[in-house]
Amino acid sequence: MRARRLAARWLLPIEGQPIEHGALLVGDDGRIVAVGPEMVVPRPENIPVAEFPDAAILPGLINTHTHLELTGLAEPVQALEFPDWIRRVRQVKSTRTASEYLDAARQGLRDCFAAGVTTVADTGDSGTVIRALSESDGSGIAYQEVFGPHPAQVDESLANLQQRVEKSSEWVTGRVQIGVSPHAPYTVSGPLFRAVGDWARAERIPVAVHIAESTAEAQFLLAGTGPFADAWLARGIPLPPPPGKTPVAWLGNHEILSEHTLCIHAIQVGPEDLELLAQSGAAVAHCPLSNLAHGHGLPPLQSFLDAGIRVGLGTDSVVSVGRLDLLAEARAAARIVSLDADQLLELCTLGGARALGIDSETGSLVAGKWADCIVVRLAPAANTSPAERVLAASPDDVLLTCLAGREVHPSS
Ligand SMILES: [Zn+2]
Repeated sequence: MRARRLAARWLLPIEGQPIEHGALLVGDDGRIVAVGPEMVVPRPENIPVAEFPDAAILPGLINTHTHLELTGLAEPVQALEFPDWIRRVRQVKSTRTASEYLDAARQGLRDCFAAGVTTVADTGDSGTVIRALSESDGSGIAYQEVFGPHPAQVDESLANLQQRVEKSSEWVTGRVQIGVSPHAPYTVSGPLFRAVGDWARAERIPVAVHIAESTAEAQFLLAGTGPFADAWLARGIPLPPPPGKTPVAWLGNHEILSEHTLCIHAIQVGPEDLELLAQSGAAVAHCPLSNLAHGHGLPPLQSFLDAGIRVGLGTDSVVSVGRLDLLAEARAAARIVSLDADQLLELCTLGGARALGIDSETGSLVAGKWADCIVVRLAPAANTSPAERVLAASPDDVLLTCLAGREVHPSS
């Protein structure tokens, strides 16, 4: 059943001021009917009612970058230099069977729900996350990865990608989209980037790309040297013509940047790159804890926000960060931006929805949107705002997660 009425000590609609003693009414169709003070929101008979005197209701968190197919692989991958780490992840991935990938995707999604996340933007190459999302009646974008560093592989890689997107399309719903992800400039040739971009644009398919993450990647594109260049040469793959481009400019040159593009990481970014990102309308998935774990540094987040670039927060994979905890990402982001707790919570919710282009449907608690909402236990704290208290919470403080009104955590 989707219809329900929730009430709590605080309700944070994100669009609008926090409401003390607030309530939320959800209709049979899973959409929000009313939000407001407890005394004002209607009380229809014969629907489930729940009250949370020491908690806050807020929109579900939106994780704009996950690799849920890697769930369960947090242990085996040791800390390595980034190019070696990437190779190691690919080795470990090759040992998993198709059914193990599906189990991992389902478990990863359950973990997300338990941590208060109701929408994910996931990149992966097993094609299992879109199925898990669809089966759970979830919300998000599953970007099908494509690799292919050798220019001679373009036709084969594109055809393979098209086939896999076609196959996964059976899992697309009104709330689950398929996207494509040319993985990164050090795993995908320029011609393949262009070919995927052209096709995605023609088919109106969203694109996600890992970009400007490590200094090794920047060195590869700027000078054609470094560990990624060495790896290509060792495999007999011709290096890109020395482009002397920053990673973002390189993307722009291959016509990948548009308002349907999600740039994951975007750390090695200069003022011209920033301008290019802003002009193109591309969005950024900012994953501070992964960036810190790999020693990449952090992006100019404040400049992104000042330039009007849409930014969402992401966790990246368990292999990079251990536990997926979006509020911990917000606390990490707070170190490099001057945002208050309300604005940081907006980044975790409505900001993510804007970055993914789904803010008309989710990301805040307003009548008409999907009732993607969570209830978070508030630690006793004097002199702090409800947003500050939510921001201090951990995944263990998530008492309830509803997807379009349907309870998915705690699981029955
Ligand atoms: Zn990633």
